[in-house]
Amino acid sequence: MTFQSQLRIPGPTPLPERVLRSMQRPMIDHRGPEFAAILAEITAGARRVFKTKNDLLLLTSSGTGGLESAVANLVSPGDQVVAALCGNFGERFAALAAAYGADVVRLEFEWGQPVDPDDLRIILERHPNARIVLLTHNETSTGLTNPLRELARVARDAERLVVVDGVSSISSIDIEADAWGIDVAVSGSQKGWMAPPGLALVSVSERAWAQQAKARSPRFYFDWKEARTWAEKGMTPFTPAVPVAFALQEGLHMLEEEGLGNVYERHARLARATQAGLKALGFELFAQDGYRSNTVTSALPPGGLDVAALRKLLDTRYGVVIAGGQGKMTGKMVRVGHLGAVAEGDVVQVIWAIEQALEELDIAPADGRGVAAVTASVQGIPAAAR
Ligand SMILES: *Cc1c(COP(=O)(O)O)cnc(C)c1O
Repeated sequence: MTFQSQLRIPGPTPLPERVLRSMQRPMIDHRGPEFAAILAEITAGARRVFKTKNDLLLLTSSGTGGLESAVANLVSPGDQVVAALCGNFGERFAALAAAYGADVVRLEFEWGQPVDPDDLRIILERHPNARIVLLTHNETSTGLTNPLRELARVARDAERLVVVDGVSSISSIDIEADAWGIDVAVSGSQKGWMAPPGLALVSVSERAWAQQAKARSPRFYFDWKEARTWAEKGMTPFTPAVPVAFALQEGLHMLEEEGLGNVYERHARLARATQAGLKALGFELFAQDGYRSNTVTSALPPGGLDVAALRKLLDTRYGVVIAGGQGKMTGKMVRVGHLGAVAEGDVVQVIWAIEQALEELDIAPADGRGVAAVTASVQGIPAAAR
């Protein structure tokens, strides 16, 4: 394949031309005024996206590093922690807490189902000593968005600290960290922010700082206190991923130019179009209706389709890269990412390519029904009228 691959995975996401260009510049002193200005701008911009007035820390790591920082700064060995989970990333968050010696109380739901706020209320009543609740906003492994606002309210009403994995949602799906009572929210530069992997963004509330002062896990690289102290001087404690900071600054410019409301609406449109296209091609949408993610669509393949063969053909013949299943859904599911720098035409392209591949794999003839369903969805024609 000589063309540039079309990345339709749920992160890393495609880099817009402007973002690519932003990285084409000489290296700078990460302790000089130029970087201080960039750090200040990223911090202010990210606060507007998180909708928070709390501290916003920039860490050099992937998203998981941001999550690990939350556990390392908040949890002491032996502490009880409630982990609400319904997929692979929820599992990872729970495993991370366990690795730090937490006594993890699991509130688990079937993959494809959301976390139920009523069940969270009950488990919190049963575990009054669990001071921290770990939530996943957008469960990327199943293509599902949890009812975060309701879940956070339940946890807050029970006076627990609310810690949220928002890696694949924040900047693409609405969140109001302060209004919803979220103490810690984590995102990663390679998802909706349209930047390469390498920076984690972490918001920390006053309540979280109070817990941080008490928590007794070892921490060094991810010590939030260090990050805040250095940020006040326009720096990070250690050498940051400077090129990713250039890119994140430009990605934020693009988000602000489009307007956050428009960004969220575009992601919702792309999700509906992708769902329509995959359904028309005989896929079965995996996540429960009403909770399907605006950033990634998960679907079970039509009978007889080998997911690995489909993905290989899409990549080699059509230059389109989609994701498969994770964990126990490996080989059983496709996941199409539509977050960041993605537009309607990109959905047309991925659905068209899948339709062609289905014909080549002798699953179904290509008659244009996938693209027709995407087009009808984009034009706002209801499914019943098609
Ligand atoms: C991508 C992602 C992460 C972070 O993964 P990294 O590879 O560490 O960046 C965490 N949680 C969710 C929900 C994600 O989608």
